[in-house]
Formats: sequence, C-alpha cells, structure tokens
Amino acid sequence: MPPKVIIKADDYALNNGAQYANWTRFLDDIVTRGLSAWAGAIGDRCVAPSAAIITQVQAWESNGIEFGGHGWTHSPVYEFKGRSIGIQTSHIRETQRLLEDVYEIPCRSFAAPYNEVEVNTGHAVKAAGVAVWLFAKWGQGLDPVTPSVAITNYLSRSTTEIETATGVPSLSKLQQTFEATRPYVCIQVHPNSFANEAAWTEWNACLDWLVTQGCEFKTPCEYFGI
Ligand SMILES: [Zn+2]
Repeated sequence: MPPKVIIKADDYALNNGAQYANWTRFLDDIVTRGLSAWAGAIGDRCVAPSAAIITQVQAWESNGIEFGGHGWTHSPVYEFKGRSIGIQTSHIRETQRLLEDVYEIPCRSFAAPYNEVEVNTGHAVKAAGVAVWLFAKWGQGLDPVTPSVAITNYLSRSTTEIETATGVPSLSKLQQTFEATRPYVCIQVHPNSFANEAAWTEWNACLDWLVTQGCEFKTPCEYFGI
C-alpha cells in the first residue's frame, strides 16, 4: 500500500486584498485534478477579505482544500519559540478566529512558521484546541509532543521532500527521497515562491508521479478521519 500523501502548502495570504495569482493557480489545479491539499494561512495577511474572496475560499474549502493556521504574523522573530504558552496560544487562536468567524470555514489544523517549535508550542496547540498539528516533529532533536501535552493527531516531517530550496519543486528530489513504505508522507511546498513556468512544470510532474505511484491524497483532518 503506497503512503497517503498530505500536501502541506505554506504561506497562504492575500495581496493587498486580492488573491495572489500563484495561490489561485495552485489551489484551482488541485481542485481540478480532484486531489486535496492543506493550505496554511498567515492570519494577519488574510484580514479584511472582500465578499468575493470569502466566497472563493469557501469554494476551495468545499472542494478538497483544508485551510489551517500558519501563525498570525509569520515573524522571523519566531512566534512559537522562546515565548510563553499564553502568547503562543493567542497567536494560534487569532488565526483560528479569523478563518472561522470571518471566512466561516473550519480551522482545525496548525503548522508553525519555519517549523520552529518547542515544548511550549505543544501546550499552546492543546490549549487552542488544535485537532491536527503538522510537523510537530521534524528531526532536529526537538520533541514537543510529550506525554504531558499529548495531542493525539500530529504529522511528522519525514525525509520525503519536493523542494530543493524554498519554493523550488523538483521531481528528481521527490523520487530520490520518497519513502514508499511509510503510512503517510507530509510534503511541504510554497506555491507563492514558484518563480517561473519551470517550477510549475516540476510541481505538476511531482503530482503526476505521486498519482502513478498509487498514492491517495488526504488533507490532515481527512487522514485522521476527523
Ligand atoms: Zn511559512
């Protein structure tokens, strides 16, 4: 049985109140192909959407795209490292409130910007009621998923990678790193950093190849059946 594939697309945001062309293309492609993906929204770059934007996001959400929180500010001064549980919890909750109250879509999953997390993040994830935590573990000796925190549903980062650098997809990288025997692979990608048509060509080749491996695509909540 090939692994389930969970696409983790980071840094969903608005561009001065409009959609970024790359995000529209990326999400429309996933929907058109009948696949699914997770889109990690940066809260403070998604505020004050127009009615048309809300309708578009809701349509994506109804057609295989799971939106989740990817921090409130995405500051390079990490939101989820070296900060109190209370502050980290509030940064998760702000984005949850925006998606749930303004966009009127669920926000049950979370991935930290830069994947920079610590034990306090584990407590914040639990306090905020996050249902699925993406890249809770990612092989840097960090283990925020402690028994005292005990969020049940989390996805680890594995060695399966599509990007040779942030926003640079590569079929050969995927083929070299693909872990065919894992139950799932959660694959990170940054659509807004696709710089040219060559990047789109590689990305589409990656999707085609995963489909030919027999992989089933799941959103994080789908994977856990919640
Ligand atoms: Zn990010």
